[in-house]
Amino acid sequence: MLVFACETSCDETSLCLMENKNIVEHIIYSQEIHSKFGGVVPELASRSHLEELQEMTIKIFSKTNIEPEKIDVFTATCGPGLIGSLLVGSTFTKSLSMSLNKPFIPINHLEAHVLSTSFNNNINYPHLVLLLTGGHTQIYLMNNSNNIELLGESIDDAVGEAFDKTAKMLKLSYPGGKEIEKMAKKGDEDSFNLPLPLVNEENFNFSFSGIKTAINLLTKTNEIDIKFIRNVSASFQKTIAKLITTKLIRGIDILNNKNVFIKSISVVGGVANNMYIKNKLENLFDERNIKLYYPIKEMMSDNAAMIAWACIKNYREDKKNIFFKPQPRLKIKDEL
Ligand code: ZN
Repeated sequence: MLVFACETSCDETSLCLMENKNIVEHIIYSQEIHSKFGGVVPELASRSHLEELQEMTIKIFSKTNIEPEKIDVFTATCGPGLIGSLLVGSTFTKSLSMSLNKPFIPINHLEAHVLSTSFNNNINYPHLVLLLTGGHTQIYLMNNSNNIELLGESIDDAVGEAFDKTAKMLKLSYPGGKEIEKMAKKGDEDSFNLPLPLVNEENFNFSFSGIKTAINLLTKTNEIDIKFIRNVSASFQKTIAKLITTKLIRGIDILNNKNVFIKSISVVGGVANNMYIKNKLENLFDERNIKLYYPIKEMMSDNAAMIAWACIKNYREDKKNIFFKPQPRLKIKDEL
């Protein structure tokens, strides 16, 4: 099966041609226009997708020497995300499929992130998925490959959002994740004591807005020089890692008490790129004999390869749907 996939839920414009389990070609264009605003401007994101998509489509077909007529299935992200961005990508892809008289399958972006580690790993169940992105921080339980159950999520900001907002307060550039990680390397992680919201609660939920408020206060009472930026970055990163690891362990204990013994954990989404958090998780789960899975590098941040893979992995005839409606607040179990 040869699939053409398109991802435009936020500020990455991405296309992928995937044949069965083989990435034939994959292009990710990260929109730079948002950096001067310190965050994604929805209207600019939609316009940028519109400007890029056509040329990227011509490029992906010419580079691979594949005729568009050879595509078996067209697929695109249909939610959740920014409605304008979702509309541009999904309508574009749907039009292509209609002009070539080929089927179109809408894909849930969250499901694509969750399934991304099954591309390069044989998953052991029961399995937990920790989704860490700019829009979501969630924990899912999977008892088998078709069953995805949301156990908990952030009740306020997403973890990637916390990185971006902290970077902005420290006058670092957007996206903030890489910048904070770089600054943290030369900082003292014990220099500031930041709050650990919800850490002692018996549930799977996260909260990050209190950390943001604490950092905002620090920036008001300290001079924002390089030493301060490095120390806050290191303390922030340590706090985030501590929150994530503590809540995961607590979650595993809650499940143990219900006779669910987790065999493996997937860490997916852009924040999974953070090496500090990665090392903390690896040390923790090595000891407990729980396997840790990560997606391949190009499936970590938003990308069309994971959309193509979700389409191929869970392909069903009845999923073909040209009459879908993009849904900005789509949840994992919602029908498309
Ligand atoms: Zn995403």
